[in-house]
Amino acid sequence: MQQTDYESMGAVPEKPIESLSVADVYVALKTSGQGLSSDEAAARLAHYGENSIQKKKGKPLIWKFLANFTHLMAILLWIGGVVALVAQLPQLAIAIWLVNLINGLFSFWQEFQAEKAVEALGQLLPTYARVIRDGKEVKILAEELVPGDLIILAEGDRISADSRLVEDNDFRADQSILTGESHPAHKTRDVGHRTDLGRAEQPNLIFAGTNAASGACKAVVFATGMTTEFGKIADLTQNMVEVPSPLQIEMGRITRLVSAMAISMGVIFFVLAVLLAHVNVTESFIFAMGMIVAFIPEGLLPTVTLSLAMGVKRMAKRNALIKRLSAVETLGCTTVICTDKTGTLTQNEMTVSDCWMVNQQMKVTGVGYAPEGEMLSGDVPISLAENSDMRTLLVAASFCNNSRLLPPSPEINHWNILGDPTEAALVVAARKGKIDLDQELKFSPRLRELPFESQRKRMTTIHKVAGDRSGLEKLAYIKGAPKEVLDLCSHYLNDGEAVAMDGEIRKKIMAANDDYARKGLRVLAVAMRRLTMDMGLPERLSDYTPELIENNMTFLGLTVMADPPRVEVAAAVKKCHQAGIKIIMITGDYGLTAESIARRIGIIHGAQPRIVTGVELDEINDTDLKKALSEEIIFARVAPEQKLRVVSALQEMGNVVAVTGDGVNDSPALKKADIGIAMGISGTDVAKEAADMILTDDNFASIVNAVEEGRGVYNNIRKFATYILNSNVPEAVPFIVFLFAKGQIPLPLTVMQILAVDLGTDMIPAIALGVELPEEGVMQRPPRSRKEHLLNRPLLIRAFLFYGIMEGAIAMSAFFFLYWQNGWPGVPMADSGEIYRMATTMTLGAIVVTQIGIVFNCRTERASVFKVGLFSNHMILIGIVCELTVFSILVYTPFLHAIFNTAPIGLIEWAYLFMWVPIVILIDELRKAFLRYWDRRRLQKKTEVMKGES
Ligand code: ATP
Repeated sequence: MQQTDYESMGAVPEKPIESLSVADVYVALKTSGQGLSSDEAAARLAHYGENSIQKKKGKPLIWKFLANFTHLMAILLWIGGVVALVAQLPQLAIAIWLVNLINGLFSFWQEFQAEKAVEALGQLLPTYARVIRDGKEVKILAEELVPGDLIILAEGDRISADSRLVEDNDFRADQSILTGESHPAHKTRDVGHRTDLGRAEQPNLIFAGTNAASGACKAVVFATGMTTEFGKIADLTQNMVEVPSPLQIEMGRITRLVSAMAISMGVIFFVLAVLLAHVNVTESFIFAMGMIVAFIPEGLLPTVTLSLAMGVKRMAKRNALIKRLSAVETLGCTTVICTDKTGTLTQNEMTVSDCWMVNQQMKVTGVGYAPEGEMLSGDVPISLAENSDMRTLLVAASFCNNSRLLPPSPEINHWNILGDPTEAALVVAARKGKIDLDQELKFSPRLRELPFESQRKRMTTIHKVAGDRSGLEKLAYIKGAPKEVLDLCSHYLNDGEAVAMDGEIRKKIMAANDDYARKGLRVLAVAMRRLTMDMGLPERLSDYTPELIENNMTFLGLTVMADPPRVEVAAAVKKCHQAGIKIIMITGDYGLTAESIARRIGIIHGAQPRIVTGVELDEINDTDLKKALSEEIIFARVAPEQKLRVVSALQEMGNVVAVTGDGVNDSPALKKADIGIAMGISGTDVAKEAADMILTDDNFASIVNAVEEGRGVYNNIRKFATYILNSNVPEAVPFIVFLFAKGQIPLPLTVMQILAVDLGTDMIPAIALGVELPEEGVMQRPPRSRKEHLLNRPLLIRAFLFYGIMEGAIAMSAFFFLYWQNGWPGVPMADSGEIYRMATTMTLGAIVVTQIGIVFNCRTERASVFKVGLFSNHMILIGIVCELTVFSILVYTPFLHAIFNTAPIGLIEWAYLFMWVPIVILIDELRKAFLRYWDRRRLQKKTEVMKGES
């Protein structure tokens, strides 16, 4: 069996680590309560290596390469080539194989690019760990953890290495990934090797790959990387599993369908050629093969994957990391975004502006985390040394607190925080009041914490009483949502005395709270309680529960914080509304605060929006909930687990729902949602794992950007599908003309020329369309229905009937133009000789040049391509140069003339061909202008209706 890192250190090898006392754990792992020194950590990192799991190797590259030449379509083409060879048509055989080869190479290249983009995503999702190094708490990359590191864990953190607890605070670990047990396991630092339990179940050990479900702890790492339990079951970490998206599945279906159509058409054309046009069998066979090859859209599927991957790359630049390619298209169909408030819609850079007590109030000046500001009563500065009540309030708020304030450093040149901004704001206020917290905590150290939970909406810490040697008394400090805290209070502080609370005082407190909340301010209440021996509390601190401690408290006061909306959010909200996307705020915060913020950023407009609280949500039935959801609504004071119900109801109503979340309890809703969005900065690892998308800046505006990109990507796929499909028509038209002319008109386009179109023109411009930026106006249309097919009727009409027929007509006109210049209709058309070859060259040339016009046309669906900038997509220009180069080679290379039935053409012919480029573009511009006019009228009508309603 492989040795763990701890065993290999050889300190106490005969004893399992769970059986050692905390002191012995430190000795065994050559560390201490101060953590390792940076130098020692670096040395151990060099010795033990990175704390990472070696990735399971994917399929070898060569297999992936070969797969592009061995799928059904490719096999059919290989066989087609063989048949051509047997029929003594070596040129056709070579051409078909060449098409197959180039298509395969092209698909492989696209897949490879897409895969690289997805891989890069994996690296964009680093996991961090909080450790104590050199006696100080620091945040490091989880890969840099080494045995002996002292790590700090809180609710929602991912556990990155196997560790032994040395401090615990109601800590529970979700070990389901290792043990299958979905109920979080209680973990303590107590010594004891339980022989009746498996290793993962030992109560004082925690393991890499599992998560902190609740509480907090400190633990010493004893195994990292591949020596962890998780490492031993290595392939569990492959979290970037890529399932084909519905779109990719649909594209596969379309490819198969179109291929089947191509084969049937080939067969029909073969029969018609033989029976109707009396073409000999060999020639008819050549033609049928040509049609099949031309119609099979091999490039479609890999181009879809590539443009999804490109979309993912662009979104990453706009602060939205997508974990699955398929999420891109879902984003494009989003109809509702359920968002939380704090940090997503607001800046989450809190500043305490007011402190309110029953008998006094004070203002706090200054903004941000710099502890520079004054305490004012009215306009008069006050000193907390002379105002013991206010001092008690701020000391309590900073004791019941896990944040740290960091002074400016060479790396970060401003005051900065570690932990929750709400809590940090309180520490900053205390510092402004000249309270020396370190000193206070020395006299009155923290003994225990009942951690914050969003269902309780509060937290409590228990401290020693300063100067109390007996240890018989303790102090409990609580802070949390005002209503919750007030419900637990029986007294309030008044001039140093705890006075019994009556109904009037309660009303006064709630009225003050409502006043602040209406202004959009965030309010927290703070209270305390003296715990004495006669209360019959359990002896062990670890047996204290919220039910035992959080009652009979003395209300101290309210702390009021400003958390302004993010600047960019109002514009993003407007964009959403224009795009037909509904926004629903679901927050843990108070209703009035939520409403005020929602109004300020434009989420609600009506005079009386419906505000549903968590308690009401539990009582309301599904039918009423759905009815409420179709109006303007805010969910306030809800617990994260209640989000799931809202999401389910919205989905049942037929919506595509995006939901934000950051906590552990948000993960069911994140998983249930069509798009789960986790916060990159404030989010827990559990939330990030459950989500499909992670916002690196926690910003609502980034969600809207991602939706825009999602819509853009889908449109791009439609663009190149239109482009690829339309050229099939001009390839078929010449043959139809030939068939129906019954020998009067020679074949205007040869099979080899069709192959040249497919090889020369369809390839690079199609990819170029896949990387177009989202079109202006994509956010002014309602969301696409999920049921809508990619190749819907408007697309097929545009590709086949509009572009296809236009291109077919131009191609035929070019063919006749050449004969007309040479005396036709006075002289008959011939099916051989220089003139015939020039004429087919003209047909080919016309397809090439109209494709140039059409690639510009396909760039936008509605917007004018001149507005987007005709030459703004460089890839398209490269594609056009390639197209023209291939065509010129065919026209001017003598030895190719016989193969492709081409001949050099003169200046007049070139001029005739190029004349069509602007005409093709202008005709389409007219069509787009008409569509825009139509859109505007529809929008106008909608706004009129909305105005009428309000
Ligand atoms: P969101 O809008 O993102 O849901 P929120 O912070 O209001 O933000 P929760 O995190 O669920 O939502 O918190 C619920 C309530 O608990 C808050 O409105 C606040 O009153 C209280 N609260 C938040 N953070 C703390 C904290 N660190 N300590 C005590 N109480 C807190």
